[in-house]
Amino acid sequence: MKIECPHCGEIKARTELRQPFDFSFGFIILALLGGMIGGLFYMLGQESKFQCGQCDKVFFSPTTVSRIFFILCVITYTAIVAVIVYGIWDSLRSAP
Ligand SMILES: [Zn+2]
Repeated sequence: MKIECPHCGEIKARTELRQPFDFSFGFIILALLGGMIGGLFYMLGQESKFQCGQCDKVFFSPTTVSRIFFILCVITYTAIVAVIVYGIWDSLRSAP
């Protein structure tokens, strides 16, 4: 996947900046809902932060790896939601 600076269009000269691990509220909720696997995929699916080597502006861009983990995260949570919905439907159906 091509990573391009949105400010000047530079595609080669850039530095990847390390993002501090963000224990955001959303991450905690997702981790509790889907277990650590879904939370981990969500964390790994975050966009990477880059600094352009030409204009020195900082920008976010998804990488191939982050796209893959984001899709895995979506699949994990879709499966969890499907299981919960099925569980509710099944208990309603079997209720007297
Ligand atoms: Zn730039």
